[in-house]
Amino acid sequence: MKIIDLRSDTVTRPSTVMRQAMASAEVGDDVYGDDPTVNALQEYAAKLLGFESALFTASGTQANFVAIMSHCQRGDEYIVGQQAHTYKYEGGGAAVLGSIQPQPLEFADDGTLDLDLIAAHIKPDDFHFARTSLLCLENTQNGRALPLHYFTKARAFCETHQLNLHLDGARLFNAAVAQKVDVTEISRHFDSVSICLSKGLGAPIGSVLCGSKDLIDNARRWRKVAGGGMRQAGILAAAGLYALKNNVDRLADDHANAQILNEGLSKIEQINVLQDPTQTNMVFFTVGKDDVAPLGEMLKTNGIIASVGTKTRLVTHLDISREDVEKVIEVIKGYFEQKG
Ligand SMILES: *Cc1c(COP(=O)(O)O)cnc(C)c1O
Repeated sequence: MKIIDLRSDTVTRPSTVMRQAMASAEVGDDVYGDDPTVNALQEYAAKLLGFESALFTASGTQANFVAIMSHCQRGDEYIVGQQAHTYKYEGGGAAVLGSIQPQPLEFADDGTLDLDLIAAHIKPDDFHFARTSLLCLENTQNGRALPLHYFTKARAFCETHQLNLHLDGARLFNAAVAQKVDVTEISRHFDSVSICLSKGLGAPIGSVLCGSKDLIDNARRWRKVAGGGMRQAGILAAAGLYALKNNVDRLADDHANAQILNEGLSKIEQINVLQDPTQTNMVFFTVGKDDVAPLGEMLKTNGIIASVGTKTRLVTHLDISREDVEKVIEVIKGYFEQKG
């Protein structure tokens, strides 16, 4: 039985061709700047996103961490979403290791941070306060692609308030593909952008941080401090390069599958889908509290892995086919039918 794992798009496994690219990658010692494949990935990513320079990192968490460390000084503050990865899901790294204070704010319904709300939280220039110096946005945010018109306003806002602007673009390509725009239509508004290679793009490991040459030089220092100076990392970078060259456009298939799944689930009376239509590769729904455990069991029995809760997130990706999502709909439908 094929295992259908819908917990996240991080569960993708490198394909045979990707593994071949890894196996035949030219390598060198990247701490000396000598790995041609790492250099090729960094140059390719910088160009693709419209930046001067880029840095390969071990993870998205590391990319965001070195970005915040490079933008901020000790005693600075960054404004960030209450549910944002860069606030909630990165172990508080910037605060723990960098003495940089987060100021979390609630996301609006479309995944943006309201600019008036941000303005109200920028600290006055006074020694009582941390210095507000960075705004971090996230795209996609919970599967939502931020509206394009927001970026122009956010950029102008940051100019006015002398803030730097960082994008946690772990799933930036999902947003660009869903909105049918070149990725630079989003990335050009930011001082730095991190992207994940290890999610929907299908690489086993790695992220890239893009920015100006100065910012990236600084980030390289912080990456070393964070233990992220890697040696023959070209083996990994080859997978990332393959992913960026081959797996971006096909994200549209994941989005189509997510929408099929969403529509199928929305027809089941006991299920309440939370985003209709879906925007990218995520489906969110709620079920009754008593259904959580038995539904999870039923899925497991049928080879479907999902983090079922009162609010459940299902994520489509390159190891999930249309037949797979149809099976998932049937199994969930079957669960509620046999329950009566
Ligand atoms: C996955 C993710 C990251 C980075 O996660 P890693 O597991 O450290 O690679 C950052 N931001 C968002 C929004 C993510 O979903």
